[in-house]
Amino acid sequence: MIPLRLKSECDRTLAPFVTRIAEEEPRCAEDATLWSEEAGTLGYQTGQIKFRLSDVAPAEVAGDVLLVDPRRQIAHRLIRAASPHNTFLITEQCDQLCLMCSQPPKPQHQDMFDHFLAASRLAPTGAQIGLSGGEPLLHKDALFAFIDAVFATRDDLCFHILTNGQYFERADLAWLRKHRARLLWGVPIYSDNPATHDEIVGKPGAFAQLSPNLALLGLAGAALELRTVVLRQNAPGLSSLADFIARHLPFAATWAIMQMERIGYGRMNWGRCFFDSSIDFASLGAAIDLMRARRQDVTLYNFPLCTVPPAYRDLAARSISDWKQKYLPACATCSLRDDCAGFFEWYREEDGFMEIRPQ
Ligand code: SF4
Repeated sequence: MIPLRLKSECDRTLAPFVTRIAEEEPRCAEDATLWSEEAGTLGYQTGQIKFRLSDVAPAEVAGDVLLVDPRRQIAHRLIRAASPHNTFLITEQCDQLCLMCSQPPKPQHQDMFDHFLAASRLAPTGAQIGLSGGEPLLHKDALFAFIDAVFATRDDLCFHILTNGQYFERADLAWLRKHRARLLWGVPIYSDNPATHDEIVGKPGAFAQLSPNLALLGLAGAALELRTVVLRQNAPGLSSLADFIARHLPFAATWAIMQMERIGYGRMNWGRCFFDSSIDFASLGAAIDLMRARRQDVTLYNFPLCTVPPAYRDLAARSISDWKQKYLPACATCSLRDDCAGFFEWYREEDGFMEIRPQ
């Protein structure tokens, strides 16, 4: 697993600061340059501040944007220059309690927008940055102001925002329209049956709130990625959901059908929620066929390729972020490996897919 936090040494009296590890010559005042390298420890300097990073090679962090926390002696890799998978955790608060949540909510919120703004301004050219939570739109005013501030100085960046879709209002229309070319909204919908959707997200009335808000995104011309984690609870109804999407949400750019992540509530509820699509792809196949017939785009996220029938494999993306992806020993000889999403680091073979077959 690629570490997103590095051990750091720095004057503990300093406030947290954002810096970029210079690849060659520094390009701005925030860039940090290497001044020492000894016994697995790298010494960097940005302005008058010196800090050290441990257990990492210079090439591994070159171009990375770090948030150095001197009090905790940690450097967070907010943006890894070599990775397309960079996400800012906007908040850990959420109003839903999804059965398979990989990041269970916490009651407190730590406002990091100033750090995220500083980091965005140092991001590689043309980067797409993920914004997730918790539920980012619980802090909608601050979030929108942050995005405005980033776009004011970086017209090459774009954001992929994961939201449960509960907090859009008609008053947001103008703002959504203004930024529609540079924001992709990832919004979960688990069933067209309100009771099933509400049961999965653990919030009565959630579907009733989500439905008009999705329409609002359509009205704004926003780019929408619908997301559905396939679970025992909703797998039988996937065709019905596909029909709902085709009829009511034809403006969605894509429908991402996803496999579970065995962490957080996903680990706690794995036994009652994990749907083994390696031995039963019928409901998925029927839903995909329906969407294809209506010429709507479908993507499969987090599906190992050998668990997907060959006719649908072109839809399976290498979606698992590099820092938390792994393969199984059986994958070593597989000819599909280079195109395969593989597994989450915390996947367990003993209660996972029954049919993993190297090709
Ligand atoms: S054997 Fe491993 S690499 Fe090959 S398709 Fe299956 S999961 Fe992917």
